[in-house]
Amino acid sequence: MFDVETIRKDFPILDRQVHGRPLIYLDNAATTQKPHQVIDALVHYYEHYNANIHRALHTLGEEATVAYEGTRDKVAHFINSPHGPRSIVFTRNTTESLNLVAHAWGRKFLQPGDEVVVSLAEHHSNFIPWQLVVKEKGAKLRFIDIDEEGRLRQDQIESLIGPRTKIVALAHASNVLGINPVAEIAERAHRYGALMVVDGAQSVPHMPVDVEQLGCDFLAFSGHKLYAPNGIGVLYGKAALLEAMTPPFTGGGMIRTVDKDGASWGGIPGRFEAGTPPVAEAVGLGAAIDYLSGLERPALLKREAEMTALMLEGLAEREDVTVDGPGPGPARTGVVSFNLRGVHPHDVAEVLDGEGVAVRGGHHCCQVLMQRLEVPGVVRASLGLYNDAGDVERLLAGLHRVREVFGHGGV
Ligand code: PMP
Repeated sequence: MFDVETIRKDFPILDRQVHGRPLIYLDNAATTQKPHQVIDALVHYYEHYNANIHRALHTLGEEATVAYEGTRDKVAHFINSPHGPRSIVFTRNTTESLNLVAHAWGRKFLQPGDEVVVSLAEHHSNFIPWQLVVKEKGAKLRFIDIDEEGRLRQDQIESLIGPRTKIVALAHASNVLGINPVAEIAERAHRYGALMVVDGAQSVPHMPVDVEQLGCDFLAFSGHKLYAPNGIGVLYGKAALLEAMTPPFTGGGMIRTVDKDGASWGGIPGRFEAGTPPVAEAVGLGAAIDYLSGLERPALLKREAEMTALMLEGLAEREDVTVDGPGPGPARTGVVSFNLRGVHPHDVAEVLDGEGVAVRGGHHCCQVLMQRLEVPGVVRASLGLYNDAGDVERLLAGLHRVREVFGHGGV
């Protein structure tokens, strides 16, 4: 049985008060809180085996290397990498992972006239890198639009992915809307010889993600949204693709040989990890994966779906709230974006903060989506594994408070 009370005790920050009220943390799509198991692993690392890795010929260096590489093994297992740890590159975050694909694969292999397909709902980090690379290479960016429910338009998936497509780059789960049918889209992309790049920033923390089942060529995600520390992210790539890429950053730790005239690169994945890597952060990511693996993920998913439904039902009862994205069901994660009529999302978030409820208001790094939705921004409440029905009630009660503060102007 999934016991949220026990889980909550693992997260020390949930004990704190904000403006004299117990913290209700509903900004998990931005970053998640850390269980003491992750915090303890970081402290233990710094107190017992902090060292630089790979080149050290001493015990601490050896222990740190084993821990760093151990996390690579855990990540490979966690996402079911068919190529094992060789396919797991550590980066700083999803943004860096996606930039790595755009710059190291896109720059090298895109040709004039080629097409890269994204959606209008992409996070800027799965948008701008492609925008830059296609401009540089004389290629073209094509955009899949969304329908009224915020789903990718099927007719455009079919009309835009074709013989000219070289890359399809999509979020598995949007940070504003819902889940995209990435496995089906990957099949279509592959039919035309295109690569499927998946932004997993919001899906990997939410549900089991299996790169083989998804059929993706690259998968990017961030540790900090997965209950792990800041400063570590992952790029999974098929081994042959990584082998073909030229590292954009060079220096220590990634070479085979260097002489006065040039250098040759080491093997994958280290070739893409120039300089001292985030060792403590990798230790923390390993601890977070252990933590999540120790929980019943199907039960977690079920609970999250129940909490999401509760939130959607509560919002639907208000005639002054507009919710974006699909209705309750399998196309939803624990991300719920909405607007309260006549009140700017920043103001909603500020009043809720006064009530101890942390949500986010703004464009959520999706300005193109906001333009499409014709709104300046949205309020986003996003669930983590420690949220419960009481948190949802506090959010809904907080919205009454927002109305009290702002009145019915604009309604
Ligand atoms: N893609 C999506 C869908 C996201 O939600 C985010 C974070 N909001 C990112 C990419 C970027 O993640 P990071 O800031 O950790 O690089």
